[in-house]
Amino acid sequence: MASHPPVVVTGASGLIAKHTIAEFLRRGFAVRGTLRSMEKAEEVRQAVVRLGCDAGKVSFIVADLSNDGGWNEAVAGSQIVVHTASPFPIAQPDDPEEVIAPARDGTLRVLRSATAGAVARVVLTSSTVAIFYPSGVAKGHVYSEEDFSDETRNDLTPYIKSKTIAEKIAWDFIESTPGAPELAVINPSFVQGPALDGDLSTSHELYRIMARGTYPAVPKISFPVADVRDVAAAHVEAALRPQAAGNRYLVGEGHLSLYDLGQILARELPDLRSKVPKFELPDAAVKAMALVDKKMRTVLPELGEKKDYTNLRAKTDLGLELRPADTAATAAIRSLRELKLI
Ligand code: NDP
Repeated sequence: MASHPPVVVTGASGLIAKHTIAEFLRRGFAVRGTLRSMEKAEEVRQAVVRLGCDAGKVSFIVADLSNDGGWNEAVAGSQIVVHTASPFPIAQPDDPEEVIAPARDGTLRVLRSATAGAVARVVLTSSTVAIFYPSGVAKGHVYSEEDFSDETRNDLTPYIKSKTIAEKIAWDFIESTPGAPELAVINPSFVQGPALDGDLSTSHELYRIMARGTYPAVPKISFPVADVRDVAAAHVEAALRPQAAGNRYLVGEGHLSLYDLGQILARELPDLRSKVPKFELPDAAVKAMALVDKKMRTVLPELGEKKDYTNLRAKTDLGLELRPADTAATAAIRSLRELKLI
């Protein structure tokens, strides 16, 4: 196995990337991670060690989604590129292009360099947000990999648009570019599971905000949950299994509401019980608040029905056994307490 060329993982400092790097190391691959700045190299090494792996098998190269520098060098000599890097802000910017441009242009940069470097397969980290917001879907629809969000909907956040546009442009590129690598796409839902350090993903940041007592009440919204350990395994299987080429995979299990997350937080850490949301806001109240509150506006597309979905393709094609949503949330909370972050 040691003779494999290194697997490239973009955005190595991200939560999903760190777990994915560790999973590749466990399978005997060396990994080359891209970073916006070398300053985060030590953070990634420590995360990998925390996951029981040899950090000596990880090297780094600097590349930013917003410019061309470094990408050809990053993928040189590699057969597999896993592209996880993408802006994932906790607050939506006033100018949507701040999020959309790096997601879209960065994906194209990675794909162009991968084509030039004769990479065999790219695995792209998309999201269920690129699936869950099509136009004209009937109530009760069961979402699957057949669904694509409609980025022209004007009720969607810049982040949702960025993930949808980046994934669509990747499929278009693969179809229209001679010599392009194979593409497989992972569409994770709300990612939970163990945090590894204080450089928190937005999905973990939510607990820190709840633990401060910031949300006495929350909108009635719920989402499927994916444990980051399963998301990492999904990326590795999608890189290695022949049948994954040309496919996208919805990775999620069960549902949890924002209120549920608060209740699990209180159950696991009773000292925070007084801080967690006490009740759910009626939808009508959220809609009224959205007239004046920009943050509330971003949850409007989530109000209403709980999205039914299937994760069958990920389970059968990628051989995944997905951890239950409660297990994933519990692992997130326990890791944050262990790291003394909540
Ligand atoms: P993180 O915020 O932990 O990771 C995001 C990564 O992207 C970081 O490495 C970050 O680098 C990098 N990045 C952001 N902007 C740029 C840029 N301009 N140039 C280069 N790198 C950049 O989040 P996650 O690990 O959770 O997310 C990883 C991917 O998974 C993203 O594509 C996200 O959209 C997707 N995803 C996440 C879900 C979740 O719930 N967490 C759910 C579904 C999909 P830096 O450290 O320098 O900021």
